[in-house]
Amino acid sequence: METSGGLIGGDVLLNTAGAWGARVAAWFGETVPIEARGPQMGVTEPLPYRIQPVVGVWGGDGTEGYLRQVERGNIVFGGGVERTQVALDPGHAKADPASLSQQLRMLLPLLPALAKASVIRTWSGCEGYVADGLPVMGQSATTPGLFHAFGFSGHGFQLGPGVGDVMAELIATGRTETPLHDFRIGRFVSPNEESVPNIAATREMNEGIEEMTAIPRGRST
Ligand SMILES: Cc1cc2nc3c(=O)[nH]c(=O)nc-3n(C[C@H](O)[C@H](O)[C@H](O)COP(=O)(O)OP(=O)(O)OC[C@H]3O[C@@H](n4cnc5c(N)ncnc54)[C@H](O)[C@@H]3O)c2cc1C
Repeated sequence: METSGGLIGGDVLLNTAGAWGARVAAWFGETVPIEARGPQMGVTEPLPYRIQPVVGVWGGDGTEGYLRQVERGNIVFGGGVERTQVALDPGHAKADPASLSQQLRMLLPLLPALAKASVIRTWSGCEGYVADGLPVMGQSATTPGLFHAFGFSGHGFQLGPGVGDVMAELIATGRTETPLHDFRIGRFVSPNEESVPNIAATREMNEGIEEMTAIPRGRST
């Protein structure tokens, strides 16, 4: 691999490039439809510490949101509004200030006391969403020694330790007890003769997403 720190050689390459993972896969002729999005997060001033569990609601009527209070008293909240689109270059996700009031309104039924709290900071970050909502994990379908583990959307913190364990097992022993079939990178390519138009369609989708995410940095979404 040619890197900013020089050439690095090895028998194995594990692609853990997150939202950029499909780009790395494309270097090896593998196509994954992925979209980069940024969740909207915020935190309040410190309040008396009362809430120990993480509290989240996903109602069928569109009501959703989650929050947790750190021991210092600040309430960290998320959800309730659409994730913003993120351009992979440079990949900096921005919170959308215009969505904050809508987000707080969604969270108020969960914690009415939020109405009196001051929000002191908002932020976002770049997450990779594969088109079918599942991550890509396992061996490359084109290149011996190449492995993929990317596209963990909004769940990568909690999945990371298990994913690392499984990928280490797969790479070190060539197999794993954990069923990875549903996460294989080849799932976007039809195994029969119709695979060529399907690949082309997926490539077009990828290019469309690239164009869609290449929005001017000044825009809020
Ligand atoms: C604000 C926010 C809140 C979140 N909250 C939660 C949560 O509560 N629980 C949860 O489970 N998940 C949460 N997530 C999601 C979680 O952060 C991601 O799922 C997780 O970070 C994915 O990890 P990753 O290592 O696969 O990818 P990333 O963390 O995105 O890491 C990929 C890395 O690859 C690098 N890279 C890309 N291309 C190249 C290249 N060509 N060469 C070298 N390096 C490259 C990138 O710079 C990046 O550092 C949250 C995400 C955000 C943004």
